[in-house]
Amino acid sequence: MMSSSDCLVHICCGPCMCGVYPSLGKEKNITGFFYNPNIHPRAEYISRYMAAGFTASYFNFPMISDTAYDPESWARKILSGSTRCAACVTERLMKTAETAREKSFPSFTTTLLLSPYQDHDFIRSEGERIAAFMGIEFVYRDFRKNYAQSLRLSKEMLLYRQKYCGCVFSEAERFSPAGKTPAA
Ligand code: SF4
Repeated sequence: MMSSSDCLVHICCGPCMCGVYPSLGKEKNITGFFYNPNIHPRAEYISRYMAAGFTASYFNFPMISDTAYDPESWARKILSGSTRCAACVTERLMKTAETAREKSFPSFTTTLLLSPYQDHDFIRSEGERIAAFMGIEFVYRDFRKNYAQSLRLSKEMLLYRQKYCGCVFSEAERFSPAGKTPAA
């Protein structure tokens, strides 16, 4: 039976959750949701999945995931979107909201709100739009102020830290000679 403080938190990666759980965990009863079909290749997906699972064990919260890693379906959806990153964020928020509603969580949010490299205002407005559409609450917090804490804590925990945002495009950009795409 869910309570009003239960919240399904989309986890993009373990290090970002290190900047979200210590504060949000004081006010919400958190269940983590790992859903990131954007990540390429599969070995990288598994590394991030395991780091997220380790974070869940470390902080002692339950974590569920969409076990069917399906980057092809993700690619079809984002390539039909107006911009790659907007479509990618929408896809993951939508799936999180659908899962939250299906499992009777009253609210959802995402660790993407921690990253200073993502389009923060878009994530907020898209989360609120989807929440209104789904009839559940989007928990908005500006977690960017916890970014330094997430770096410190994830290093202390020896967590795997990714070197690019996630998709095959960001991997190529990061490792090209002129690559400047940030890690997350
Ligand atoms: S760069 Fe990051 S946010 Fe943009 S499409 Fe790739 S994985 Fe998604």
